[in-house]
Amino acid sequence: MNKVIIRTTEEIENWRRNINSEINFIPTMGNLHNGHIKLISTAKNDNPNINLVSIFINPLQFDNKLDLENYPKTIDNDIKISFSNGADAIFIPSNEDIYPPNNKNIKFLKAPIELSSALCGLNRIGHFDGVCTVVYRLLNLIKPKNLYLGEKDWQQLLILKNLILKEKLNVAIKSIPTQRDFDGIPLSSRNVHLSKNERKLIRFFSSELLEAKKNFQQEKNINLNEIIKKLSAKKISIEYLEHLHPHTLQKARLEDNISLLAGAIRCGKTRLIDHVFLMKRRPIIAIDGPAGSGKSTVTKLIAKKLKLLYLDTGAMYRALSWLILKENIDYKKEKKLLNIFKDISIVFKSNTNSHQDVYVNNYCVTEEIRSQKISSIVSKISSIKEVRKFLVEEQRKIGESGGLVAEGRDIGTTVFPHAELKIFLTASIDERAKRRKFDKNSKDLQEIDLNTLKEFIKKRDFEDSNREISPLIKASDAIEIITDGYTINEVVDKIFNLYNDKIPKETEIK
Ligand code: C5P
Repeated sequence: MNKVIIRTTEEIENWRRNINSEINFIPTMGNLHNGHIKLISTAKNDNPNINLVSIFINPLQFDNKLDLENYPKTIDNDIKISFSNGADAIFIPSNEDIYPPNNKNIKFLKAPIELSSALCGLNRIGHFDGVCTVVYRLLNLIKPKNLYLGEKDWQQLLILKNLILKEKLNVAIKSIPTQRDFDGIPLSSRNVHLSKNERKLIRFFSSELLEAKKNFQQEKNINLNEIIKKLSAKKISIEYLEHLHPHTLQKARLEDNISLLAGAIRCGKTRLIDHVFLMKRRPIIAIDGPAGSGKSTVTKLIAKKLKLLYLDTGAMYRALSWLILKENIDYKKEKKLLNIFKDISIVFKSNTNSHQDVYVNNYCVTEEIRSQKISSIVSKISSIKEVRKFLVEEQRKIGESGGLVAEGRDIGTTVFPHAELKIFLTASIDERAKRRKFDKNSKDLQEIDLNTLKEFIKKRDFEDSNREISPLIKASDAIEIITDGYTINEVVDKIFNLYNDKIPKETEIK
């Protein structure tokens, strides 16, 4: 494809009409650095879409005229950098193109007050309104499939996610972690204004944040005053330093696993922002739902895609039921049960087909636990108080340091109530019975006719949903996905996008 430079709204509308591919859109204000390059190359490597970079210094987002006048302009170099790193087209509109005088069609937007009044919004009045207005205008002209943004401007990213939801725009935001320079400071077009000494100060500020992140991993605690004291001792002028919930930007709560430590400082005439995400453990995804809803298939694929540990809690209840049957234990007697708990080991091991095998006391039970015999007693056994207490503790031990996706019935409500993402996966009874019938892992179910299978599933649903302790219910903060009519990959993609929406990419960096 020929590389093109597009300069007017008329040209972009023509160009848009004549291409028959989806667009990745990378909006910039120019003076491109490695952060922008990373955005362009990430978009290039993500998919075969056309990559369009825009270069437009948006006057509406400057609250200070001098700042606007001094904003670095390096257009020829920006064009070279964009094309040599994967841009297929560059849009360089003028002010009049984006904001034609007397054009009543321009929608001037207001950023949501809850998000825009925190952090940078305190001192940059109108800044986020300007950002929303220009991005909305560009998205309407370009109609991209994906919008690539850096997490460096985390507050802006949140506000734009909110804009896309509110305006019901059909575009997905893809984010990349903050890109840092050789000395650890976040790359920014404004860094060119820094003197040697100012650069030293911002370096100190960034290294304090990165240090706080490291300490938090050990101590699970942060002392803002201590950091402020250290910065003040270096005569660094702090505009704000806050420890917040990463999505609401309200004060961080004790139970927040991921939180945001964000600050802004002034060095001479330049104002710089930086942040880190603090994490108590790696993220957890909880996937609950009734039998045959597709949980196992989807959960395994998600685990693989996100490199998370896969925890099948149903297999643990099945494994325990298997041992109870095998040893003919009277599970109604508490003492007998407690005796098994002392000795039983339930272990998952990856096998050569990159699936998991389940071992009970070193004996492989992967196939046997899927039999109809086990399916017909597992709900009874799993409703026993002692059984739940024992297995929930085991599951929490496995998930202690996070980094896993767990499937079951009570993951989001009981096992991991603070999971970062909770999904409630379900499907109609007809669909679920059909899936079970053709499930390769449940061979003896293939012999049973569909109606009988439906009755079996209904009975298990009833028992699981009506037991006294942690019954199968949707957690209040879970997202329900009804999988009828969706392919497995579509469901996996949905969950993948929800995960990316909740978990900053930066948390993947040590
Ligand atoms: O998901 P699967 O069909 O393998 O689960 C088997 C049974 O284990 C469920 O029907 C339910 O009775 C029990 N279970 C549970 N809590 C979980 C997972 C499974 O009670 N977290």
